[in-house]
Amino acid sequence: MTVKIEIPTALRSFTEGAPRVEVEGSTVAEALRALADRFQGLRRHLFTEDGHVRSFVSIYVNDEDIRYLGRETTPVKGGDTLRIVPSIAGGSPGAVAYPSLSRLDRPTAPSAPKALSREQLKRYSRQLLLPEVGAAGQRKLLDSKVLVVGAGGLGSPLALYLAAAGVGKLGLVDFDTVDESNLQRQILYTTPDVGRAKLQAAEDHLRALNPEVAIVRHDGRLTSANAFELLSGYDVVVDGTDNFPTRYLVNDASVLLRKPVVYGSIYRFEGQVTVFDARTGPCYRCLYPEPPPAGLVPSCAEGGVLGVLPGIIGTLQALETLKILLGKGETLLGRLLLFDGLTNSFHELKVRKSPDCPICSPTPTQTKLIDYEAFCGVGAPPSGPEITAQELKGQLDARAPVVLVDVREPGEFDLYHLPGSRLIPRAQLADRLGELSTADDLVLVCKMGGRSAQASEFLRSMGFVKVRNLKGGLDAWAADVDPSIPSY
Ligand SMILES: [Zn+2]
Repeated sequence: MTVKIEIPTALRSFTEGAPRVEVEGSTVAEALRALADRFQGLRRHLFTEDGHVRSFVSIYVNDEDIRYLGRETTPVKGGDTLRIVPSIAGGSPGAVAYPSLSRLDRPTAPSAPKALSREQLKRYSRQLLLPEVGAAGQRKLLDSKVLVVGAGGLGSPLALYLAAAGVGKLGLVDFDTVDESNLQRQILYTTPDVGRAKLQAAEDHLRALNPEVAIVRHDGRLTSANAFELLSGYDVVVDGTDNFPTRYLVNDASVLLRKPVVYGSIYRFEGQVTVFDARTGPCYRCLYPEPPPAGLVPSCAEGGVLGVLPGIIGTLQALETLKILLGKGETLLGRLLLFDGLTNSFHELKVRKSPDCPICSPTPTQTKLIDYEAFCGVGAPPSGPEITAQELKGQLDARAPVVLVDVREPGEFDLYHLPGSRLIPRAQLADRLGELSTADDLVLVCKMGGRSAQASEFLRSMGFVKVRNLKGGLDAWAADVDPSIPSY
């Protein structure tokens, strides 16, 4: 049986860029094995050591999750389409860890229904004309409270549209400052904001847009210690973060507080949008019970993103949020909307409430918030040997016989690379081991030291003993050795 397998962007580096691959097989497991046989680098992404399909990769046959069919043994027939849907985290470098969080909460206005003022009638006239909104709907929006976690690429269009629509109280969580490289997609900020705290700049711009909206700045990181206090003041939580620990924290706190979450994530040209609400439907953990191993899916900083992509996904999140607040239309609860910007196509998959969900099933295995960094394996110290940028400079100057292996993507390599370094993107390493010698003194290089640390670990597991990782990557090289190299 020839079946088609749709390959997500995050895994296309393993299929020589192919967005779909045809394979032979009569069950899901056979088809995926055939795929992994053809593209060896994919194997560890799809299968565990003992040969089972990994739990953080959702597999769909013709738009149905195989967990609700026959799992790996689900039969497939000629013409069927298999879809691999990995969890992606991309959004804004939102919020994990533990500094203080200043809460500038204001008491909310009493919710007695009031007539709209002349100014309000004028400002909101275009949406007041909609029968789905009207004066009663506008009143609902003015009395509602929305928390946006992460004021970055997704948070920017979200906050702008929600403030413009007259959502009464808009909370923003972020700890970052505005960087020049944010401006390409984070349209909440302008060039004079560079260097300012994001939330201060956001507050200024949102106030200028709609002075009526109460902007509440939660300057700091969302943590297990403050999540309940922070989320409990809002009706809807919108997830615009870019990292798995915060996504799981937002989900679990929202499930326990019985609040809806509007989810959006991006990776390069792909986006995902849905609504989670464990009271009546699935939660994030129903879809992805556990996170992928740290670093398996590159971040936006590594993967790159075109600014309109978070614009589209964040705007769809804003739409879902307004529908929830108005109680109108059909939300994406139970439906995962996939967007592919390269083909400008949408695809929809069913998301079911899992009877085995660790947090929202009738018999949960988890009933309180946990340490999400540990859960996602973030922050584990690199186990292998490292070399600092200055030490490497010393060795290169002394003409020591080191072999530099750059594991970034070709586009990044073209921007800048250390003289004499060889390009072997991390995804190709498994297939190109023959180009390296175990006798050589290898130094692995990437932008920030994360990808190269994983690549080093992989090489060690394959029998290479003389492997060191450039600590801090080329960013450290720029900081400590040569500030003239381009940063990106
Ligand atoms: Zn669940």
